[in-house]
Amino acid sequence: MPLKAAIVPVTPFEQNCTLLWDDENKQGIVVDPGGDLDRIETAIAETGLTPEKILLTHGHIDHAGAATALKEKLGIEIEGPHKADKFLLDGLPEQARAFGLQGVRPVAPDRWLDEGDTVSAAGTTFSVLHCPGHSPGSVVYVNAAQRFALVGDVLFRGSIGRTDFPYGDHDALIAAIKTKLLPLGDDLVFICGHGPASTIGEERQSNPFIA
Ligand SMILES: [Zn+2]
Ligand SMILES: [Zn+2]
Repeated sequence: MPLKAAIVPVTPFEQNCTLLWDDENKQGIVVDPGGDLDRIETAIAETGLTPEKILLTHGHIDHAGAATALKEKLGIEIEGPHKADKFLLDGLPEQARAFGLQGVRPVAPDRWLDEGDTVSAAGTTFSVLHCPGHSPGSVVYVNAAQRFALVGDVLFRGSIGRTDFPYGDHDALIAAIKTKLLPLGDDLVFICGHGPASTIGEERQSNPFIA
């Protein structure tokens, strides 16, 4: 069954918390619940999906800030990101304080992911790419059959993830995009952590950071 998607903008960073579900049986996933839990819960109710899992692309607060609270409310597990982002997930309360946000708890994923792993949810399977650079443990979820990916803050429409953190690595990010994302094919559509969706072909041709 083709997946359906809905985007819920959350946190002051306007992060694209993404709901994905199989429209036939309504089994679904919540990707990057960064905050504004009430808004996410309203969207879940509106779509009628039954969340099976929470997936995280990386450990930044706008992506993971409400993951523990949502996990406890729904009684489901958290998968991802790569373990290299453990320090960010452990440090979420400190990230919150730096931005004046309150009530944010650390996240302990039930499963860390690595390059080549697969995640089954919403009646389909996603393959995992480890794409460090924006953060050391950033992962991308690819559904090759449905020509669709969730890329977090690795790649944006017309831009790339920032790498000006102490742990950022611009060269690693560019290498990951060029060796892992561009080969996915021009027709592949991706949802990113901020801003509008795009396609690999669009970015290959016009993104100034990788063209
Ligand atoms: Zn980020
Ligand atoms: Zn972000």
